Amino acid sequence: MVYTPLPSRPNLDWLKKRAKRRLADLRTASPTARLFEAQLELAREHGFPSWRALKEHIDRVCRENRFRLDGGPSHLPDSNLTAAWPRFTSDQPLKVLVSGCLAGLSVGVDGNAYGEFPHIAKFLARPEVAPIPFCPEDFAFGTPRQCPDIHGGDGYDVLDGRARVLSESGEDWTAPMIAAAHHMLRLAQAHEARLAILQDISAACGSQVIYRGARKAGAPHQIGAGVCAALLVRNGVAVLSQRDFKSFDLILRQLDPDRTPRPELRDHHESDWYRSFFGSP
Ligand code: SF4
Repeated sequence: MVYTPLPSRPNLDWLKKRAKRRLADLRTASPTARLFEAQLELAREHGFPSWRALKEHIDRVCRENRFRLDGGPSHLPDSNLTAAWPRFTSDQPLKVLVSGCLAGLSVGVDGNAYGEFPHIAKFLARPEVAPIPFCPEDFAFGTPRQCPDIHGGDGYDVLDGRARVLSESGEDWTAPMIAAAHHMLRLAQAHEARLAILQDISAACGSQVIYRGARKAGAPHQIGAGVCAALLVRNGVAVLSQRDFKSFDLILRQLDPDRTPRPELRDHHESDWYRSFFGSP
């Protein structure tokens, strides 16, 4: 069955309409097809074991307001947030929790950092910014390590006991990953970090996109957060990824009020790749 990722703002009406349309399609080939068959087919197509699991997922996403009306994730910092921030100085800096690999630490699964991110490095080097680098996977599993992925949901599901984190060899790494997430949250709270800049796609740090299953076995992407990002978001920490250029620019303009706005910048969910993979919200 071909996997079809869910869009960012699915709702139950949309889902029910799709099930009815799918039933009509099924009945062209099999006039006795029943609604539950169409619902199950749809659920499996979206990577869920049952219609009920799919419905409950959509219900949770809506209930927790994970997305804004424009389809953007609610965890991104917005102008209301930054307008309430004080003027940061080297004595009273903006404290930013940052994925260790984005800060240049060699903590990737293979013992390297994941490339260079000059815009992040330049930002972290500013005198009025105090970075707090941390790698939850290094904390939990050491470096180098196998690559963990989330199976059966996303980071929110892992925190709620509905999904698991497995290593490449299938070892259950759920508990240490959750422990690392709590350590990361305590670090953010102890430093009063106002913001976290996290590496996207990671099962720990991903905030907009992660894999749905084992990436090395060809698992597709899904919209969702990794375990640590999900815990930070649930506890009110604004999160952005290295690909959220528009939100990043908002932070830079808070530091530099004279900075010229860059309306052409886009966040990850507005990128061509994201929209071609998940569709427009
Ligand atoms: S993405 Fe997060 S968990 Fe992965 S290497 Fe970077 S800091 Fe560590």
